[in-house]
Formats: sequence, structure tokens, C-alpha cells
Amino acid sequence: MRIGHGFDAHRFCEGTHITIGGVRIDHDRGLEAHSDGDVLIHAICDAILGAAGLGDIGRHFPDSDDQYRGIDSRVLLRRVRDAVAARGLRVSNLDATVVAQAPRMGPHIQEMCANLAQEMGVAQDRVNVKATTTERMGYTGRGEGIAAHAVVLLVAI
Ligand code: MG
Repeated sequence: MRIGHGFDAHRFCEGTHITIGGVRIDHDRGLEAHSDGDVLIHAICDAILGAAGLGDIGRHFPDSDDQYRGIDSRVLLRRVRDAVAARGLRVSNLDATVVAQAPRMGPHIQEMCANLAQEMGVAQDRVNVKATTTERMGYTGRGEGIAAHAVVLLVAI
């Protein structure tokens, strides 16, 4: 078994929606990013790559590379899954937390879990996504952006 941790944060910018866990959520701002800004999937990719000893998302999908501009982060998660599978590993389970003052994540959590389970090729009861505010403290609390933490366990295929 190998455990990995991931963290990511993205700043709000002008926009009409955000994408978290592959779910498009209407909002009065967007998330600044080279990709679609899916901060949750980025944290998960880093956790998986970390567990496998494969570095991080920036190494695999550099934001200096135009092929990743605006890319659907679900594609990145699929590629990460393939990369660890090539090393004989698969995700056993995932636990993640989205940190955001707004918008509310609660109504979208189930759909996020379904998306993530599908991309990682695991049963949905092995995927847990939580959300919290920071009680208006810090950069997420002030509504400057959204952050996400993820922990995954990898096991041999
Ligand atoms: Mg990111």
C-alpha cells in the first residue's frame, strides 16, 4: 500500500461558473487557471502521483505547454490513473476536502463522487468528498479563491 497527499488552490477571477470535481457550478466568478481550474481534481492528481512517487501534476502537465490550455481536468485524472496503472498500482480509496466560503458545494458532492469514481475506475463507495468553509478566516474565507486537500491510498493491481 502507498499513501499520497495532494493540495491545490486557485484564485477567483471574472467568470460565470467554476468546475469542481468535474461538476460545473454556476457562480458569479470563475477560477483562474491554465486548465479548467478544477482545484479538487488537481489535488487528487497530486495525491495519486505522490503516492506512486511520480512527482506532481506540474511535472506531468506543465502549464507552459499549450496542449493543456483550458483542458478538462478529468482528462488529466484519467492520464494519472493510467500512469500509476503502468506501474502496477490502482486507487483503493480517496478522501478529499474542498475549502470554499462560496458557492455551496453540498448539493454537488454526490455528482463529484460519481465523476471521480468513474475517472479513477473505482466503486463510488471508495470515494469521499467533503466541503468546508473556514468561517470567513484566511484567503478562502475572504472569498479570494478555493482550495482542496486530497488523500489517496494506492494498492497493487
Ligand atoms: Mg491547480
